[in-house]
Amino acid sequence: MSGEPKTMRDFVKAPRWWRTEILTEVVQSEDGVGDLLRLLKERGRAAYFIIDEALSGDVRFGPILEQDELFVFLASESEPRTGDVDRLVALIREKRTQPDTIVGVGGGSSIDLAKAAGICLANPASAAEYQGYGLDMKRGAEIWVLPTLNGTGAEVTPIAVLRGPEKKLGINNNFTAPSVAVIDPQLSSGAPKFNRFYTMMDCFFHHYEIAHSRTSEEAAILDASDGLRMARSVLAQDLTKYALDRAIISAMASILGGSSTIGGRVGVSHAISYGLSNSSPKLPHSVAVTMAMLACGDIYNDGGYEETVKFLRINKVSPPRARDYGIDESQTERMTKTALGMDKLWLSHFGPDWKNTVDAKFVEGIYRRIVAA
Ligand SMILES: [Zn+2]
Repeated sequence: MSGEPKTMRDFVKAPRWWRTEILTEVVQSEDGVGDLLRLLKERGRAAYFIIDEALSGDVRFGPILEQDELFVFLASESEPRTGDVDRLVALIREKRTQPDTIVGVGGGSSIDLAKAAGICLANPASAAEYQGYGLDMKRGAEIWVLPTLNGTGAEVTPIAVLRGPEKKLGINNNFTAPSVAVIDPQLSSGAPKFNRFYTMMDCFFHHYEIAHSRTSEEAAILDASDGLRMARSVLAQDLTKYALDRAIISAMASILGGSSTIGGRVGVSHAISYGLSNSSPKLPHSVAVTMAMLACGDIYNDGGYEETVKFLRINKVSPPRARDYGIDESQTERMTKTALGMDKLWLSHFGPDWKNTVDAKFVEGIYRRIVAA
């Protein structure tokens, strides 16, 4: 679509802007907290809330913070750990009345925790046992979300990204998709610039890589192309101050980021980012992909690399450095092994003959550039 809404009034009336079928009902709202609580009541849901600790000082979330069935999550790490999910599930299971809906309020981490807890409630093993694709799992509680940061697409994807004892890998299952996502772009006004900037950078990389993928479906590529245009328009501006019109575009680009992952596949920067993430528990995913893109100038030479440099410059953000996150030369071999294992992502970018280009030496070369930066 073109001519994106600039005001909340236009946003709530905007017709569906994504093509790919998603499993989530998107509720466009001018009063996210109010609409969430109203819908839960109208539909007779027994809700259990998970809210990001960072929102506890924000009066707009008062009606949620007053709820009895509430878990305040300290989302300081980049992703929730499988142990966080296990502890929360155990806590909920001890309750006399069981919730039928887990509501995640916050950024990607709180949403991922809600998704994982929702499905794991109905499945006996530790969350770490369910990290992967196509595993046999039962449907758990319904998952509802109220995002307070836009760009991850987590609000509509059937993936709960988790950091386990061995690996960072999501629970990928249709029962992990939120049933309802209440989208109110005003709620991201409290997010720090660092989070708003890097989350949109990740959104840009998703759209850019899917739009350039050789294995993505057509609808996903079209959604990614729209998302790419929106992410670019946001990142080409200085994001120091929160602005509602940008928040609206970011929220719309985020939904496209989720819809385009269904049928779409990211590429090289994401493959490289997983090696980095596995070597540094505190490295946020969005920063890892930025580092990866900055070392892929020869692969993404039709804009991806140059635009990344430009967005960092406009926003006066210095290029992130691996060494600031404890990553050095000694981890190159391990990172290379992780990245080389992401067959589908290499296939996505280079096509069926990807092994002609991509081998250990090629991948190691990229990591050497990253650690030397
Ligand atoms: Zn990403």
